[in-house]
Amino acid sequence: MFCSAPVNHPESRRLVVELTSVYVACDDCGRSSVLRMPEIMMASRKGVQTYQELCQRFRCAECPPLAPAFRNLTIRPTWLDDSSYGRVKDDLVN
Ligand SMILES: [Zn+2]
Repeated sequence: MFCSAPVNHPESRRLVVELTSVYVACDDCGRSSVLRMPEIMMASRKGVQTYQELCQRFRCAECPPLAPAFRNLTIRPTWLDDSSYGRVKDDLVN
């Protein structure tokens, strides 16, 4: 279970519904992509609940499939509360 970097990340237990986007880059071939809210919501509907579970699903489309522990991915999440979305949420409340 503690075999890939995202698992040891302090934010790994946070919920995918708290994410606004996730930047994923492959360190092997340099390919990068950004997962946006529609895709995150889709994953959530398919049963992915935590950021950790989401990270385990990421893989590079260019490189051969590898177990999560052997993927060289750089994953950078953006959370609702550390972007301008936090302010938008406050506006909706007020
Ligand atoms: Zn790759």
